[in-house]
Amino acid sequence: MNVLVIGGGGREHAIITALAKSKKVDKLYAAPGNGGISKYAECFNVKATDIDGCVELAKKLRPDYVFVAPDDPLVMGMVDKLNAEGFKTFGPRANAAILEGSKVFSKALMKKYNIPTAAYETFTDADEAIAYIKKQNSFPAVIKCDGLALGKGVIIAKDEQEAENAVRSMLLDGKFGKSGSEIVVEEFMTGPEVTVLAFTDGKTVKPMISSMDHKRAYDNDEGLNTGGMGTIAPNPLYTPDKQQECMEKIFLPTIKAMAAEGRPFKGCLYFGLMLTPNGAKVIEYNCRFGDPETQVVLPLLETDIMDIIEAVWEEKLDALDIKWSDKSCACVVMASGGYPEKYETGKVISGLDENGQCEGAFVYHAGTKLEDGKFLTAGGRVLGITAYGDTLKEALDTAYKAVDTISFEKAHYRHDIGKKALSALK
Ligand code: ATP
Repeated sequence: MNVLVIGGGGREHAIITALAKSKKVDKLYAAPGNGGISKYAECFNVKATDIDGCVELAKKLRPDYVFVAPDDPLVMGMVDKLNAEGFKTFGPRANAAILEGSKVFSKALMKKYNIPTAAYETFTDADEAIAYIKKQNSFPAVIKCDGLALGKGVIIAKDEQEAENAVRSMLLDGKFGKSGSEIVVEEFMTGPEVTVLAFTDGKTVKPMISSMDHKRAYDNDEGLNTGGMGTIAPNPLYTPDKQQECMEKIFLPTIKAMAAEGRPFKGCLYFGLMLTPNGAKVIEYNCRFGDPETQVVLPLLETDIMDIIEAVWEEKLDALDIKWSDKSCACVVMASGGYPEKYETGKVISGLDENGQCEGAFVYHAGTKLEDGKFLTAGGRVLGITAYGDTLKEALDTAYKAVDTISFEKAHYRHDIGKKALSALK
C-alpha cells in the first residue's frame, strides 16, 4: 500500500517511521515533510494547511490512504474533502475535529454527558466575563480562547488584574483573531498531568500507552509554555486504577457522546488529563496525535500500524488486539536558542549521520532541512532525541548521552525531562 502523510514535524517523523516498519506499506509520501522524513518518504512542497493543494496532490499520487496528522487541516475539513474524492483516510472529519477546534463545544459536550472537567462559563462580552471573574473571586483563574491558537490561547491569571487583561486581549483587542471571539473561563485545577492518546473508530476506543509532556521552556518548569520540550512513556502516575477510572468516566463516555451527537470520531483522540484530588478530569481534547507525545508512544507499538489504520477506517477496531512493548521511552527536544520566542535558523547540525540519526538513539526531525547533504535547523523545535530502555532511567540516560553528541549553534534543551516521573517511581 502507498500512504500520503500530511504534516512535517517530529510527530509526522514518528508516524512515518512506524509506517515504514509496516509489512503492508510499499511507498510513503509526505506533504510537506522535513529533512528527516525525506529519508523515508518522497516529500512534496505543499503546506498542510493548503487543503485544496493537498487534495490535488492526493489525486496525482492516488495513495491507498491519506493520514492527516496536524490539527489545522483536520479542523478545516481536509478529511471530508478527501473522502468526497474517494480517498480512505486516517483522522476525524471536521464535525468531530471540532472537539479540539472549539473549547466552547467540547466543554458543552462534557457538561451534557457528565464527563469530568473543570467548572466553567463561556462569554462573548468582556464586561460580563470580568464581572463573573470578580464574583467568583477565585485565583488563579483560567481563561481560554475558544478556537485554535497554537497552544498560546490559555492564560492562567494569578489575580484580578491579570484576568481582566486576558479577557480584554481576547475579546476586545482581538489578540487571537476569530479564535478569541468567544472565551471559556474555568476553575483552576491541581494535580499531575497525563496524556493518553487513543485509537477510535467512532464506536470502540483503544487507549495507547500513557505519556507525560514537559511544556515549559526551561528546567524546573520555568519560562514560557512551548509546543513541548520532551516526553516520557509510560507515565508512572497513571496507575491501573486511574486507567480504569478514565476508561469508564472519560474515554468511553466521550466516544459515545460524539456518536450520539451524530459526530463519530475516527482517528486518534488525545485526552489531556489532570489527576485532581477529586478524580481524573479532562483539561482538553485534541483531535490528533500529540507532538512530542507521539515520539515516545509509537516506538512502543508492536502491532503493525497499518492494521490499526485499516481497522479504524473499516470500523472494526473492536476485533483488533493492539500490542505494546513493556519498555520505557524518553524524548528530549533540542530547540533553537530563543524558542518559543524569536530564534535564528539555518544553523548546521553536527553529530548526525547521513540518515539524520545518531548512535544509541533515534532522532525525530521537527524543524530541519537537508541542503547539499547537510542538515540545517529550520524551526523552533529542531530535533527530538529519543531512546528506549528497560526502565525509564535507562531510556533517559541513553537519550541524554545521545544529546551530548549532537550540536548546533545556540542549541537549547531541558536537562530535567523525566525527573518528576523518576521521583514518582521511587
Ligand atoms: P495545547 O498546546 O496543549 O493544545 P491549549 O492551548 O489547547 O494547549 P490547554 O491544554 O487547555 O491549552 O491548556 C494548556 C495548559 O494549561 C495545560 O496543559 C495545563 O497545564 C494548563 N491548564 C489548562 N486548563 C487548566 C485548568 N483548568 N486548571 C489548571 N491548569 C490548566
